[in-house]
Amino acid sequence: MKKIYVTKSSLPPFEEYVKEIESIWSTHLLTNMGEKHNNLEQELCNFLKVDNISLFTNGHLALEMALQAAELEGEVITTPFTFASTTHAIVRNGLSPIFCDIKRDTCVIDEDKIEPLITEKTSAILPVHVYGNICNVEKIQKIANKHSLKVIYDAAHAFGVEYKSQGIAQYGDMSMFSLHATKVFNTIEGGAISCNDADYMSKLYNLKNFGIKDAEHVIAVGGNAKMNEFQAAMGLCNLKYLSAQINARKLLVNVYEKELNGIEGIRVLTDKNSDIKQNYAYMPVYFDSAVLGVNRDEIANKLQENFIIPRKYFYPLTSEFDCYKKQSPDCECTTPIAKHMSENVLTLPLYPDLQSQDVLRICDIIKSC
Ligand SMILES: *Cc1c(COP(=O)(O)O)cnc(C)c1O
Repeated sequence: MKKIYVTKSSLPPFEEYVKEIESIWSTHLLTNMGEKHNNLEQELCNFLKVDNISLFTNGHLALEMALQAAELEGEVITTPFTFASTTHAIVRNGLSPIFCDIKRDTCVIDEDKIEPLITEKTSAILPVHVYGNICNVEKIQKIANKHSLKVIYDAAHAFGVEYKSQGIAQYGDMSMFSLHATKVFNTIEGGAISCNDADYMSKLYNLKNFGIKDAEHVIAVGGNAKMNEFQAAMGLCNLKYLSAQINARKLLVNVYEKELNGIEGIRVLTDKNSDIKQNYAYMPVYFDSAVLGVNRDEIANKLQENFIIPRKYFYPLTSEFDCYKKQSPDCECTTPIAKHMSENVLTLPLYPDLQSQDVLRICDIIKSC
């Protein structure tokens, strides 16, 4: 039987990609902010409803460089219920992550728990729009203004999400979108920073291109994180199909919800706030073992026996990683909800050409547990 994985990378029709890259064979311009790169920046500004986009070779380096552009010091308030990248980006910049707990219903940072964590060392808040569920962007901005903190969002999951008809990256100082193969929209590997203050654009440019201003002037100690033309070409092709793909995802999410939401002890973790335009990036489901009499791991095993490969996303918490365990306080007492969610949530398969019969089969296997 063919395995069904948690996601499947989107590819445009082969001929369309070949057509898109054909001109590269006459220009021989493979990278360094070429025509395709610049076209994609423009198209993403339109799609994401933002003014400024800087493209990167991947989302992680984009996030590291956003933190550098913001010139942070000391402590950054964030959550441990995220991908390794978020916490690593803080630590690799010589900053200390301070872990805030999350909310049970959407798994994003609990805005009411941020202020008690602020000290004189705090320089920024780095919240994550987990699963495309958005943080309380308005409250977080108020807190940041009150304490003069920067806000940089890990919006890796939130490509295309809108709040009150605005692009989600309109909120905060900067937002990072991951354009990795496994995300809603991909450029094979890739990342994008949206910033609301255009001054960040030149800083980000220097950071991703060695600080080279022109042939004889190097004005900043930058690294290299440029997106190349083949990545940008993939993005230009994939973008044409994205809206239709998000619609297809939505229909599948509706099937999951119809099948699972009536069952006591099972909860689909998508935000029901009608001000939000979702991107249906993931299908996270919470399994309450106390009610169900069966736990998340047993359900995951049962699915795998049936060639369905879900993901324990996110497990373990980043604060429990071997590389952080020693310096992190016990997450059972500092972030109990994050700890609980990481042990009881499973992300189920979801991608545009997944068949609704497969969704029904997945739900039947879960019900049989
Ligand atoms: C994917 C992801 C990243 C990193 O993005 P890459 O493009 O893979 O480097 C960062 N944060 C979160 C929450 C992610 O899911």
